[in-house]
Amino acid sequence: MHIPLLFEKSHPGRRAYTLPVLDLPEKDIADLIPERFLRRDPALLPELTEGEVVRHFTNLSQMNYHVDKGFYPLGSCTMKYNPKANEAAANIGGFRDVHPLQPERLNQGALQLMYELQELLATITGFDAVSLQPAAGAQGELTGVLVMKAYIEATGLSGKHKILIPDSAHGTNPASVVIAGLTPVEVKSNSDGMVDIDDLRNNLDDAVAGMMLTNPNTLGIFERNIATIAELVHEAGGLMYLDGANLNAQMGIVQPGRIGFDVMHINLHKTFSTPHGGGGPGSGPVAVNEKLAPFLPVPMVAKEGENYRLDYDRPQSIGKVHSFFGNFGMFVRAYTYIRMNGAKGLRRVSEDAVLNANYLLSRLKGTFKLPFPETPMHEFVLSGDYQQEKGVKTMDMAKRLLDYGFHAPTIYFPLIVHEALMIEPTETESRETLDAFADAMLAISREVEENPDLVREAPHSTPVKRLNDALAARRLNIVYKEEGPEHDG
Ligand SMILES: *Cc1c(COP(=O)(O)O)cnc(C)c1O
Repeated sequence: MHIPLLFEKSHPGRRAYTLPVLDLPEKDIADLIPERFLRRDPALLPELTEGEVVRHFTNLSQMNYHVDKGFYPLGSCTMKYNPKANEAAANIGGFRDVHPLQPERLNQGALQLMYELQELLATITGFDAVSLQPAAGAQGELTGVLVMKAYIEATGLSGKHKILIPDSAHGTNPASVVIAGLTPVEVKSNSDGMVDIDDLRNNLDDAVAGMMLTNPNTLGIFERNIATIAELVHEAGGLMYLDGANLNAQMGIVQPGRIGFDVMHINLHKTFSTPHGGGGPGSGPVAVNEKLAPFLPVPMVAKEGENYRLDYDRPQSIGKVHSFFGNFGMFVRAYTYIRMNGAKGLRRVSEDAVLNANYLLSRLKGTFKLPFPETPMHEFVLSGDYQQEKGVKTMDMAKRLLDYGFHAPTIYFPLIVHEALMIEPTETESRETLDAFADAMLAISREVEENPDLVREAPHSTPVKRLNDALAARRLNIVYKEEGPEHDG
């Protein structure tokens, strides 16, 4: 299917805007703007009317799949509904138009919001200090690991360079450790899908700087031995890092800072309902306990009497990890979500997320293989093994789901599950939506028996069929050329 580009719809002379009348004499312009900055030829832009532009982008948005269009059960990545109240708050003039170089006395409202968000996240996680600066989960990980490294160096412990990471972990964990200049070491999972304590013991030595753990882990399973794990790592002189990208099962129920963790990151774009995946920039705040607090990035937002200010006077800080103070618009959205839910509401969010996941699982298990039978929390992982025996892969079923009007779940992750399907329904989905999704999954499994080619050749109803995503990532071509863009099929 060829989707016409704006350039292809262009007609000379059509306009969607009117510039204000030029009220400066030509010679003043020449005085004001250096010769070399003056444009000689008109910019190459598509020429269309406003109506044509609006229709073009509305049509594109309908070809896309998004959380405002339908159910999006992407495990671990959490595509939860983004409440429109968040957008209204982020559009309040004082937040929207604020400039980071304004003097602090003119930014008091924005600083107060950041300060209070730091405090709210500290309360939710049970930690002592929070930096809002990192722009993503992965950057939060890197920041957190750099903070651990700075602490270890400051306490004079040398030779500590290993970070233990379970084999179920998100790929960003080992990557962050390597970028921080430390060495990732893999720890095996046991048959319950939890950390294998014997393998953990075998890997503990004086070189261990810490452990990075996701809990509930990427199988959606809460590590039952978390106290023992933290104790063992601490005894070896290591620190405990929680990958809290997805905090959806724990709010108001578990405070990670109270169960043995020293540092964690939080994805505002997963747990706290800010948009992601093309919908907006991310935000990955880092929370730490008291002993790691001096190492957090500068500036921190501080409160003195009734005033808020940016505190740069932190000599042990690892420095800055983002321009200015992070992605402020996301702070406003997350703050709105937290305040509107309140403490009880956030607990309810987690309870409903867990309930929805377990309801969906109850409808799907049996038809799909459940590799680890432990009761999951806010998400669960199935295997497509039964269907693969009939010659249909998890990838095929994921594509077929698009024909049923659903986004596919996360697939082929975590790596320890063969033909993995990782499903996270989130807290806001209705019983009807969950049932419709379960019905679609069961229907696809029947198709695997009766008409496997239908599934293997899916999707049939989307604007584009199976794309070569490896090629798209490696040879991304977004530049318009007069002759028309190159097509790779
Ligand atoms: C999403 C995710 C990350 C990375 O977060 P980004 O914002 O995508 O960088 C890390 N760990 C886990 C468990 C995640 O789900």
